[in-house]
This record gives sequence, structure tokens and C-alpha cells, in this order.
Amino acid sequence: MSLHVGKKTHVGNVRSNNEDAYFIRWPLLAVADGMGGHKAGELASALALETLAASAWDEPSADTEVRLRSAIEAAHRRIVDAVAADEGLRGMGTTLTAVVVGEQRLYVAHVGDSRAYLWRDNALQLLTTDHSVVAELVKAGQLDAHDASRHPQRHVLTRAVSGAAAPEVDMIIKDVLPGDTVLLCTDGLTAHVADEEIAAVLKAASHAQAAADELVRLALEGGGSDNVTVVVARAEQSEVSR
Ligand code: MN
Repeated sequence: MSLHVGKKTHVGNVRSNNEDAYFIRWPLLAVADGMGGHKAGELASALALETLAASAWDEPSADTEVRLRSAIEAAHRRIVDAVAADEGLRGMGTTLTAVVVGEQRLYVAHVGDSRAYLWRDNALQLLTTDHSVVAELVKAGQLDAHDASRHPQRHVLTRAVSGAAAPEVDMIIKDVLPGDTVLLCTDGLTAHVADEEIAAVLKAASHAQAAADELVRLALEGGGSDNVTVVVARAEQSEVSR
């Protein structure tokens, strides 16, 4: 399987710095949405992606899940060390949604409220669960989706890669078929662009970069209240015969 990848990150219309980041190097794709004062959020997302990138990733195998989990634990420890060395970084953290895409399977490791979606057969599936206060209220039936989108605590996470406790990592394993598209995004996209609009973009786009550009454009047009980052990866049959 070969991956055709499009990506884009934008500071948005309101914020002065971009604490989001992405990393792309086959077969690993990842997005991170940092939080913390001053430059701490940018540092947290960068440290998390750097730590993931430092592991050797190749065709997924039986130990991919274990390796993803240990890379995220290592990212957590780097953030703990950075906070210990500089009191000004206290409270920094990041979401982390990473996927390793192989010939047959994809492995999604996820902490926080960035998301992974799978577009297949003209249908959009959300693969991840948001680790946020609001998502838990919705799940418990205490809040509906409309109120959730305006809730004052909609950015408050229940899990993050941070200097606090080691993160509990969700792992989602799916089969991969030619034509599948994986979308990773930060909440700056989903705050403004509904799933139906995301589906329409993925359906209409001629290539992955066109989809990434259009999704970010819609988030900015919808308000751009946050940093916005998208990675779009389309799996296509390799031309190599096997
Ligand atoms: Mn965000």
C-alpha cells in the first residue's frame, strides 16, 4: 500500500501562536495539540512528536501496539523532565493522535481530543473517542451535541500527555483497504466543521492535499477560533506486483 498524504496547519483567526503540530514519515502519521502558557504548549506538542519520531517505525507487526504505547510513555517522561527543569512549564501538555499504517492494518494510538477518522466506501467513521469533560457529559446523557459545541469547558481534557500522571492510551486497530483515507485532525477543525462537511470534502477532493487545504479553509471560514491541523492520508495499492 502506498500513502498519498496531504497536510496543513494554521494558527487560526484568533490565537497569536500555533501550538498544534504534525509529523509525517511513512508509516507514521501524527497530530498533537499543545496546551500551556507562553511557549509551553508549542514545546509540549513538539516534544511529543519528536519522541515518537525518534523510534524506528516500519511495516506494522505484532509489537507495533507495544512500541506505540512505550513511545507515548517516553513522551510523557520527557514532558515530566522538562517541567522539573523549568517551573515556568508547569501545566503544559498535549493531545497525541498517531497512526501507523501498514499493508493490512492500521494502529491508532490516542490521548486527548484530537481525532482520527476513516473514510471508506463513502462513509466517515470516527475511530477515536474525545477525552474531554464535555464528551463524557454527552456520553452520560447529561449534555446534547448542540450544547456540547458551546459548552464553556469544551476544551478541558480528561486525558493528555503531560507532566502529571502517565497517560492512559487508547489503541484502535483496523484493517486497511485500498482507497481508504485516514484523517487526523485537531479540535480546531471539528469545532467548526461538522462530520457531514468533512465527508463531503473527502468525497469531492481529487487528492489528499486538496482535501487538507479545503478542510482548513472551512475551519477558518467557520470562525477559526483555534489552531487547526489536518493530515489526510489516502491508501492506494502499490504498483509493485507481489
Ligand atoms: Mn486545539
